[in-house]
Amino acid sequence: MDLTQLPPGIQTRLLKLGISRPFDLVLHLPLRYEDETQLYPLADAPIGTPVLVEAEVLSAETTFRPKKQFVARVGDGNSTLVVRLINFYPNQVKQLAVGKRVRLYGEIRHGYWGDEMVHPKVKNVGEESSLNEALTPVYSTVAGLAQAPLTKLIARALNQCQLDDTLPAAMLNDLGLPAFADSVRFLHNPTPDVARIQLTERLHPAWRRVKFDELLAQQLSLRMARAVRRERNAPRIAPPGRLAAQLVACLPFGLTKAQNRVLLDISKDLAQRHPMQRLLQGDVGSGKTIVSAIAACHAIEAGYQVAMLAPTEILAEQHYRKFLQWLEPLGIQVRWLTGSLKAREKREALATAADGTAQIVCGTHAIFQQTVEFKNLGLSIVDEQHRFGVAQRLALREKGGSPHQLMMSATPIPRTLAMSFYADLDVSVIDELPPGRTPIVTKLVSDARRDEIIERIASKVREGRQVYWVCPLIEESEALQLQTAVDTHAQLTEELEGIAVGLLHGKMKPADKAAIMADFLANKLQVLVATTVIEVGVDVPNASLMVIEHAERMGLSQLHQLRGRVGRGAHASLCILLYSGPLGETAKERLKVIYENTDGFVIAKEDLRIRGPGELAGVRQSGVPLLRFADLENDADLLDAAREAAEQMLTGGAAAAEVHLQRWLPGREALLRV
Ligand code: ADP
Ligand code: MG
Repeated sequence: MDLTQLPPGIQTRLLKLGISRPFDLVLHLPLRYEDETQLYPLADAPIGTPVLVEAEVLSAETTFRPKKQFVARVGDGNSTLVVRLINFYPNQVKQLAVGKRVRLYGEIRHGYWGDEMVHPKVKNVGEESSLNEALTPVYSTVAGLAQAPLTKLIARALNQCQLDDTLPAAMLNDLGLPAFADSVRFLHNPTPDVARIQLTERLHPAWRRVKFDELLAQQLSLRMARAVRRERNAPRIAPPGRLAAQLVACLPFGLTKAQNRVLLDISKDLAQRHPMQRLLQGDVGSGKTIVSAIAACHAIEAGYQVAMLAPTEILAEQHYRKFLQWLEPLGIQVRWLTGSLKAREKREALATAADGTAQIVCGTHAIFQQTVEFKNLGLSIVDEQHRFGVAQRLALREKGGSPHQLMMSATPIPRTLAMSFYADLDVSVIDELPPGRTPIVTKLVSDARRDEIIERIASKVREGRQVYWVCPLIEESEALQLQTAVDTHAQLTEELEGIAVGLLHGKMKPADKAAIMADFLANKLQVLVATTVIEVGVDVPNASLMVIEHAERMGLSQLHQLRGRVGRGAHASLCILLYSGPLGETAKERLKVIYENTDGFVIAKEDLRIRGPGELAGVRQSGVPLLRFADLENDADLLDAAREAAEQMLTGGAAAAEVHLQRWLPGREALLRV
């Protein structure tokens, strides 16, 4: 099988999914499974869990109150159900035309108009259409690549790829895990008799095998990297600390105890002969940025350059501005470097990095991976490191010799787990928030009260504050999510007369995004309508109100991250979680966690506890996005096993380990060689 033989459009889409070789298709395992083996009469269908029902469309209309949406009523002779689409395509309206017979797959909830399904999967059927015998895998995909062709490609890859085991038979035996080939074949094509929960909750031995392999690959690569790193020389950075002291003296606040403690860890590391690899964990708003700026001062005072990397241009620019504000007064040269710079500006920035005049360069990882050369890089700082994959992380180390590395993350995983997972990292935690924050008040409000919210926004703006409006996550389609944001922006612009409303979404060009963010920061825009792109790290202290639409569709950790965008200044802040229709019990319990807790770690734990079988299938929040299948908290036993296995495998020489790594982290050895 040769992916380059596929139409270029398909290749691009596969690349977006991280699929660049046939084996990646094998590892593109189902996101979830749908149970279309059983048909429920409407009257008996259980509430709050995905079900398949069949009915005829009785009525259908597009309504405009409280906002534009499509509402159809379907019935099976005994009972009826409302189908609601928050946003929709013409062909969906056609499928749900009056008189059509449809099979609907989705969760029934008690809604505003009675029992309803929001965004179900819809299929037109004849009188006697047959039912599936086994669970249906559902793959994550992108616009323009439907489930059916993707499934076909995966089937081809399963047939043609070499699926031999990379683990010694004895090891598999000891661990009681099934063969790799059997496992992936089964996960892509489950047999009819398998219990649904085993698959959806990823408890089946086949899932455990895949998770184990993934964890083993991480452990192997990190151990090998650590061994290599120990051999390397890094500059010993132990200046008197005058620059850092100057910076601290200029700050309008004092550092917290926790910030001082982690700074001590960092100073000790910087003074070592081998490169620091430290992960700095701290909840949103705990003040990681200033810690990194102080670390940067040490490196600069000792005569070295600093690189600051962020996963997005918005964040990179924000760091640039922060660093300018903090460090330029101390005479430090700060530059920024992103894809959206004009060619000439980029050349200039690159030149200053290469000749050493730029003392700090802020940018996105994409650009750093391509072109930057530093004269004498001493420290690289990686913000929101959980957004970077292991391969990227390893690659970053190689820029300009062996600099010290400080990685920052708000991912709430317990320190001990983090340490055993990141086999190559030391971990420090900022476990307190700066004092004097007015806690964010969180409210749960039905979207039937949208008018009041609009009023509230207007009054906040009159007080001089700014507002975020976050549009709903529509997992089913990126295009629809975008459309929703565009519609909301138009609607709010109309409703909020005389107030400047901006729009920010993932599909915009980086430069346009940056411009909008800059306008919002400068209060030229008072309201910012955004898709979930603002989830990470954005810091606009004057924004004190956030409205999150259809909060019930989002993961709790995601809500927590989003909410962390307000409550950053002295003003009392409010986060309004808008929900649609009456909420089910589980949804209520989940949202309660968000308005009762402010600690990201507690929220992540509660989320796991509440997430019963079937609930939120698909919105997997493994906490550590760089793991695709394993979940540190739930698979702690597998992590332990993988650690031991990695050690065992490496004592026998690196050959077996290499074969396993080829499969899971291809291209990795190239990264280690540079
Ligand atoms: P995060 O850890 O989420 O990256 P930031 O570094 O963006 O958080 O910090 C959030 C806000 O808190 C910033 O506006 C920052 O200037 C401020 N801040 C950081 N440390 C302190 C402190 N010790 N006291 C008061 N405010 C602080
Ligand atoms: Mg941050």
